Amino acid sequence: MKKELFKKIPAVNDLLESEKGKELVETYNHSLVLKGIRNVLDRKRKMISKADEKNLKELSLSLEHTNLYKEIEEYLMDYLAPSLQEVINATGTIVHTNLGRSLLSKEAVDSLVKVAKNYSTLEIDKRTGERGSRYNNVKDLLIDLSGAEDGLVVNNNAAAVLLILDTLAKNKEVILARGEMVEVGGSFRIPEVMEKSGAHLVEVGATNKVYIEDYERKINENTGLLLKVHTSNYRVMGFTEEVNLKELVELGKKTNLPVVEDLGSGIIEDLSDLGLKDEPTVKDKVDQGADLVSFSGDKLLGGPQAGIIVGKKRFIEKLKQNPLTRALRVDKFTLASLEATLKAYIKNEAREKLPTLKMLSQNIDIIKEKALSLKEKLETLEKENLNIKVEKDSTKIGGGAFPLQDIPTYVVKIETNNIELNELSYKLRMNKPPIFTRLYNDNMFFDLRTIKDEEIEQIVLAFKNIL
Ligand SMILES: *Cc1c(COP(=O)(O)O)cnc(C)c1O
Repeated sequence: MKKELFKKIPAVNDLLESEKGKELVETYNHSLVLKGIRNVLDRKRKMISKADEKNLKELSLSLEHTNLYKEIEEYLMDYLAPSLQEVINATGTIVHTNLGRSLLSKEAVDSLVKVAKNYSTLEIDKRTGERGSRYNNVKDLLIDLSGAEDGLVVNNNAAAVLLILDTLAKNKEVILARGEMVEVGGSFRIPEVMEKSGAHLVEVGATNKVYIEDYERKINENTGLLLKVHTSNYRVMGFTEEVNLKELVELGKKTNLPVVEDLGSGIIEDLSDLGLKDEPTVKDKVDQGADLVSFSGDKLLGGPQAGIIVGKKRFIEKLKQNPLTRALRVDKFTLASLEATLKAYIKNEAREKLPTLKMLSQNIDIIKEKALSLKEKLETLEKENLNIKVEKDSTKIGGGAFPLQDIPTYVVKIETNNIELNELSYKLRMNKPPIFTRLYNDNMFFDLRTIKDEEIEQIVLAFKNIL
């Protein structure tokens, strides 16, 4: 019987040259259709090999030409569908690195699209008609917001740190406290970046305690800079001692060494009125006298992926002259959207306009209302096997910021009875658009802090299709 099935598999050419095959070649293209046919036929061969007796009839049916073409067409459509898709983030984590970190404001998207469709003043000064620098497009905004003398933007904060170390400390020693040897997601580890830059790491202190004397003792003629790394995604607590930036700046002045801080998330605006207290602003760091401060554009700043460096002019000038800057340079889309993002801060409307800050400062009663609305809508569906509740909960902000602080939120909690939780979660992820939820203790949570109004309807529709 299996032998017959193998025989029933048509030749590639027959499928390619039939009426339907020609039609497909016209819509897609020859090599893609060929790939699709081969793929589907291979799959059939494997299925026949593995099949047991009771499946053979069904398999035989699937080898009919019309059914084969259906599978081939599905393959082609799937192949051409975008792989980078928009999703619904129901996890509650606002700066979710795996889901794309910050969302851009409408203004940022508009200006990005304009620059994408048209020629732009990227590197030209329209008053003189002469060549300008692409960095001038955001430099003044960075200066005004941070109080620093100058600013520069590269691809991401990892690149910013690499550039700083390569420029100021190649073949020299960099002194860093043991408690600040940070690893952030996506394999960014301070000691490893340092090694790549050709700077030599000199660790001082113990994990929990470091004193200014520890730094002092290690300074010699080979020292290149004093580094501080913001412990963005963890805190050392308990019996601890830290050297603050001010003290380090004083030591830097005394010994004529630059002092640099990698600030990680880098917030522009003080968020303590939201109960988010232990994250310093970029301006704080500049005021405390850091020679250079680096931070990300797409974490709590709420803009595009970028590594922003602000600080003393003579050091920024040195960075600009390093050929690495050319290799790490940002494109026009980043500059356009970053400019619009920074202007929201200048105009004092960051919390209204930037989705990251808007979600962060969202009123808890509004979140509760959204949760009740989702619950109500889900309950109108067939619901015997779902137990739906609205609960008060808390969320992590993500993106390596405020690691100890949770913000209050409301969730719709779904207890499933007959349906396998993993199966439901899989089906939601395969929905169009995919939906990512929080799974915890055998329950599924939809956190309304990161769910937009218009997405509530889409979630309900997804459940309708699945149940
Ligand atoms: C997130 C982070 C980085 C890396 O920033 P990217 O913009 O993701 O490259 C570097 N240092 C610290 C302390 C961070 O928190």
